[in-house]
Amino acid sequence: MFESKSVELTINSQKIKVHGFSTGAVKVKTKFLEASRKGLFAQLDIIFNKRFTEWLPVWVWVIEHPEGIYVIDAGITSDTMSRAYFKVLGFFSNWVNTSLFKFKVNRQEEIDKQLESINISPNAVKVLILTHLHVDHILGIKHFPKAEILVNRLEWNKPSGDVPRLYPEWFKPVLVDLDERFETFNNARFLTKAKDVLLIHTPGHTHGHSSVLLKTDQGNILFAGDICYYQQQLSYDRYAGANISAGEIKNTYKKILNFAASTKVIFLPSHDKDAAIRLDGLIPLVP
Ligand SMILES: [Zn+2]
Repeated sequence: MFESKSVELTINSQKIKVHGFSTGAVKVKTKFLEASRKGLFAQLDIIFNKRFTEWLPVWVWVIEHPEGIYVIDAGITSDTMSRAYFKVLGFFSNWVNTSLFKFKVNRQEEIDKQLESINISPNAVKVLILTHLHVDHILGIKHFPKAEILVNRLEWNKPSGDVPRLYPEWFKPVLVDLDERFETFNNARFLTKAKDVLLIHTPGHTHGHSSVLLKTDQGNILFAGDICYYQQQLSYDRYAGANISAGEIKNTYKKILNFAASTKVIFLPSHDKDAAIRLDGLIPLVP
């Protein structure tokens, strides 16, 4: 339903490839996507909201980098098609996952199969980076028992809406401290020796939510997780209903817009249907 895209870029004239795959699709309540009120009211609006959005992509990004293959988020799996799947989470979380969200994914759309379609074995993935611990970003981790899985330490220690009962038994992520500075961001961490892949603290959706920045000769690509659901929300100062902190997300928007004012940034949220198209065309956030 959402076409995958692959681009060839360079870093210091060295070739790299970046791929975007949608692991199926998700629908959320319209007030989850776009808030009309703040705080507790925004949450109540989601619960009593009857309308769902159209189908949205669940992007997983893959970087074929000279230092190894990096995957950003793991997407959803076809397990979600069974209503019984979320029962293990208990009453409330089961209700959230079966009433507020709808999933549509077949086995071929899971990230392992999509990697195999470009001749990459999931076991060849060096690092899997999780932007945050929500179901639609973590269910595919079961395909990566051999990868190093990175999570911002704050997201791990202070999660919201995480689902530990759905983690594979072997899942023990490497917790990353974001204690380096980069441009407008006070909390970041360089992940490659070449200092061209960074994990950046972009809180608001959850307290520990993080994004991945890839610096290329063609511009900075920001894999933005759930900072917002589509680029125009950031451009027009509109907010999702799903944020844990209105203050944090406002500050995150400001930092990204300040950064993008001085350099080319290609902004790719996880559920933006146009994200892979912008990757393909290298279309910047600020024209
Ligand atoms: Zn998400």
